[in-house]
Amino acid sequence: MILIRSLEYHVHNACNLACSSCTHFSNLGLKGSSTPEELDAELSNWSSRLRPGRFALLGGEPTLNPRLSEFLDVSRRHFNTIPMLLVTNGFLLHKHDPSLPESLERNRIRLSISIHHAGPTYRQKENEIRALVDDWQSHYKLMVDYRPSARKWRNWFKRTPMKLEGGGFSSKPEEILPADEGKPERSWANCVQKNCHQLFRGKLWKCPHVTYVRQMDEQFGIDKVAWREALDYEGIGPESTDMQVEAFFAHRAIPACSTCPTGNKFFDLRSPIHGVDE
Ligand code: SF4
Ligand code: SF4
Repeated sequence: MILIRSLEYHVHNACNLACSSCTHFSNLGLKGSSTPEELDAELSNWSSRLRPGRFALLGGEPTLNPRLSEFLDVSRRHFNTIPMLLVTNGFLLHKHDPSLPESLERNRIRLSISIHHAGPTYRQKENEIRALVDDWQSHYKLMVDYRPSARKWRNWFKRTPMKLEGGGFSSKPEEILPADEGKPERSWANCVQKNCHQLFRGKLWKCPHVTYVRQMDEQFGIDKVAWREALDYEGIGPESTDMQVEAFFAHRAIPACSTCPTGNKFFDLRSPIHGVDE
């Protein structure tokens, strides 16, 4: 059995929020979603030989996928004993299929709610989410945590389209530019995503950065010269031997890491809620 720290899966690529410097590029209008049948097929090739420390369903915003509960069933069927979580910003939980809390309980999947801003509008929304989840917990045995993501916002790119007052972005999504400091080892050492491996199009990928940048390219056409190390990267497929997969995950820095920053430039995030200037 191949042991890895964690494995993540995009249930839905788009997001209802727009957090500048989102490391999954979901703030920039990525489109598309997966189906439970696709997840089932992808996991069929891996689940009998891979043991992640945890498996996370996320996005983008996973509750934008109306078949989310089916993803939970498929995931648990493949990984019976592995800790699992559903990562969501929670804003749309109240609109989602009412079977979701029952499915979370039955599948023993932790609900992990990320908090992305401390402004008054966001706080009010957070209180509504907490009240809803408290109510769910009075009816179901749910594991729940709240993740203060807003404390850690750092500039991940040389140029990121930033959310503007009154909506919109400062530049077009295709104009994102990598940090490109030419020191992949130092970038990897600074990286907070190094163990966030992705399952995407049937392959295993090192991190969200090198996975979803290709979707940005397919959708928007990004600067292929500036992003060449990341676009040249390829995940590893199920035809590989266990030794090849283990060697793949044993790699620390890869050439694509040079597209990430070597240090942290933290910033105050403008409210990620569309139409809110706080
Ligand atoms: S909530 Fe923010 S960080 Fe999370 S996927 Fe959406 S835009 Fe990205
Ligand atoms: S490419 Fe390397 S440094 Fe950049 S996010 Fe992935 S693992 Fe981290």
